[in-house]
Amino acid sequence: MHQFIKDTALELGFDDCGIARAEHLAVDAEFMQLWLKEGNHGTMHYLERNFEKRTDPRVLVPGCKSVVVVILNYYHTHAQPAGSPKIARYAWPATDYHTVIKAKLKLLEKKITDTYGSNIVNDSAQHSFTDSAPVLERRWAQKAGLGWIGKHTQLISNKSGSYCFIGVLMLNAEMEYDTPVADRCGTCTRCIDACPTKALNGKSLDARRCISYQTIENKNPIAPEFRELLSGYMLGCDICADVCPWNKKRAIPNSTHELKPTNEISEWNADDWRNLTSEDFNRTFKKSAITRAGYNKLKENIHFVLKNNELSG
Ligand code: SF4
Ligand code: SF4
Repeated sequence: MHQFIKDTALELGFDDCGIARAEHLAVDAEFMQLWLKEGNHGTMHYLERNFEKRTDPRVLVPGCKSVVVVILNYYHTHAQPAGSPKIARYAWPATDYHTVIKAKLKLLEKKITDTYGSNIVNDSAQHSFTDSAPVLERRWAQKAGLGWIGKHTQLISNKSGSYCFIGVLMLNAEMEYDTPVADRCGTCTRCIDACPTKALNGKSLDARRCISYQTIENKNPIAPEFRELLSGYMLGCDICADVCPWNKKRAIPNSTHELKPTNEISEWNADDWRNLTSEDFNRTFKKSAITRAGYNKLKENIHFVLKNNELSG
């Protein structure tokens, strides 16, 4: 079953797949409790909820015995015109990655249930996830042998570096498991040194200081102390990933046609973004991950980035 699932995941277009035993994540639970207590999550209060479910898949999905983890590379080398407010690579595809991964996970589940029977999943509870439920996906990927969590707090996949999405399918059958991957950051501190807002400390991320949080999750305007530190980004940030030597070694352009970048992002210059209307926004980004920020937030972010460009130009 173990090898069948891994082979099938690759046939469906995932870049890697590993399987871990479902168990309580005691170390992560302790770490998260402290991280939340310190307020590192800012206004992302949903992270405080469902703590038991987040740290034990058997509570989230009754009957769960195994956690199947899949990876989908989203790296691409497209570039925006010079001076345009920047968008992190993950948000370039015209189709939101949640949609792409959910569809592929559904196919994987069907192939598994067709072969091993429908009892292998708990149909009365949601059992497949991608960045949308209380699941510590990066930890499960590490336990399933797919990579390790770097000092920039992202998964560094054995196959494609850290530009990858993670999907999870929980099964209520035991099987053979993969070997967890040990940390390979060593003494490197490039991501910590490169972060313009000092959001990384080598062990964790202060989300409140992260450009991704400030430009997407923080529904208030970007905090004044960070406005001049945006480094050109209006949505998300790739700085810590771009400097990682593992990405320089491993990141290769993805070949998933559903993740094809939106043409407008490659073409729009600073004025196009400055003049973005809500109609343009809805028409162009309706199905993309950019909608998470919302039109008004994006316009504010654009304003701050272009103001920085004017001051430095
Ligand atoms: S995404 Fe950007 S702001 Fe956030 S930790 Fe990485 S470098 Fe820092
Ligand atoms: S830049 Fe260095 S420390 Fe940071 S994640 Fe990559 S290897 Fe690890």
